[in-house]
Parts: sequence; structure tokens; C-alpha cells
Amino acid sequence: MLNIKNLKVNIDNKEILKGLDLKINPGEIHVLMGQNGTGKSTLVKTLSAHYDCEVIEGDITYKNKNLLDLDVNERANEGIFMSFQNPVEVPGVNNSYFLRTAINEKRKYNNQEELDTMEFLKLSKKELGRFDIDKKLMQRDLNDGFSGGEKKRNELMQLLLLKPELIMLDEIDSGLDVDAIKTVAEVVNDLLAQDKSRSLLMITHYDRLLSLIKPDFVHVLKDGKIVKTGDYNLALELDSKGYEGIGINDEIN
Ligand code: ADP
Ligand code: MG
Repeated sequence: MLNIKNLKVNIDNKEILKGLDLKINPGEIHVLMGQNGTGKSTLVKTLSAHYDCEVIEGDITYKNKNLLDLDVNERANEGIFMSFQNPVEVPGVNNSYFLRTAINEKRKYNNQEELDTMEFLKLSKKELGRFDIDKKLMQRDLNDGFSGGEKKRNELMQLLLLKPELIMLDEIDSGLDVDAIKTVAEVVNDLLAQDKSRSLLMITHYDRLLSLIKPDFVHVLKDGKIVKTGDYNLALELDSKGYEGIGINDEIN
């Protein structure tokens, strides 16, 4: 599904990713861990075509296409979804309108009929009703004045409605209470169960989320590269021993 080779990315003319390789097959769950500032967010931002990130070298293939040839809209329409560490507030843009537009853009791209307001409301009721997500968030402006937990629930709402093929979550669990983390896991596990070819790339520092969404692969980043890969046990080891304990410290060479 996704194949990243020797990826080098600059932000503000500074090299952040320094030759990163990563391969994700359909249906796999990958986790990125690593100390602060090692380039985890930069990787997922690069994959979603964030304007901060300048690709200097390397190849990224997604569903047999050159991902770097696709602009941000095409990537979204091709099924890539990224939940930001800090979702932006967009006052003046009604959330429900935003969501319906996003869905319809994707439907148009895939030659499907657009949903009218009634159809959209029916779909959102069906999708959101199964989870602890307050539909009132839809009537407000996008993320405007949302609490941290509401912003993350709003990201889940987008996930449930857009049904991406590659889900990328950047520290979606940060600042969430235990119940909200459970909701995250329920939504993500539901989406993964609905379609076995869906893949997940998530960044987290905590075992709490990983104990609910069991990863197939755990990667540790250091200085813009993956320096260690393991299974769920690597996350458990990290949790108990810390980075130095597994032989990774923050010395940057
Ligand atoms: P992580 O998510 O692993 O904590 P990031 O990918 O966010 O790390 O950041 C990697 C490095 O890139 C850090 O040194 C950070 O300061 C730098 N960086 C990230 N975004 C910007 C930006 N917009 N401008 C300048 N430097 C940035
Ligand atoms: Mg980050």
C-alpha cells in the first residue's frame, strides 16, 4: 500500500528526515515512537502533503502511484487521512457543511453521486450514533472553541464519515481522558474491522492506546530515521525501560 524509500525532508531548509524507509502493507497497523523532535510528525505531515515539508530526496509509492505527484486533495480523495496533533480552528466554517463538502468531493472523485443534506444527516446519524460522539459538534464551526477532547472526537467523526484507506493519527491520545481514549480505540478498531485492507500509521507515546489497538509493527525514530523496529513487545519494553534502556538516547550525531 505504502512504500517509502530513502526519504529526506527539509523544514525551513533544515534536514529533518534523513533517509527514512518504511513499508506498510494493506491491513497492517504501524506505530511510530521516538523522543520529541525526532521527525515523527514530519513524516505523517509529508505523507499528507503539508506545505511545511519539502521533499529533497527519496520515493514514496502509494497504491502503485507516485505519491509525490499527487496534491493534497488528490491524496485525500485517494484515501489518505491524517489527524493532526493540533487540529486547526476554522471560525466561520460550519462543521456539518465542511464534512458534507469533504465527503462529496471524495464521492465526485470516485464517480459516486453526491449526498444531499438529508442523506448526509442520515449517514452521520448512523455512523456517529454507535459511538460516544456528540453530534452537536456538527452544528458548530469547525473546531472553533472545541475543547481538546472535542477536537479529537471531531477527528473521529471525519474518520467515520470519510472512511479512509490509510489512517494516520498523530498523538490522537494526547491530553485525552481514559473514556475518550476508549472511544478512539473503538472507532479505529471498528474501521479496521470493516475493511481488512485498511491500514493504520499512528504516533503515540503511550501504551494505553496500544493496549487497545494492537500494533503489528513498532518503529522507533531517532534523528530523522527509523533505528529500531519490533512488534508490540518493543512498545512494552519502551514503556518500562525508556529510550536509554533500549539503547536509544537523544545524542544527535
Ligand atoms: P516529533 O513529532 O517527532 O516530535 P517533529 O517532526 O514535529 O518531531 O519535528 C522534528 C524537527 O523539526 C524538530 O526539531 C522541530 O523543531 C522541527 N520543526 C518542525 N516543524 C517546524 C517548523 N514549522 N519550522 C521549523 N522547524 C520545525
Ligand atoms: Mg509530533
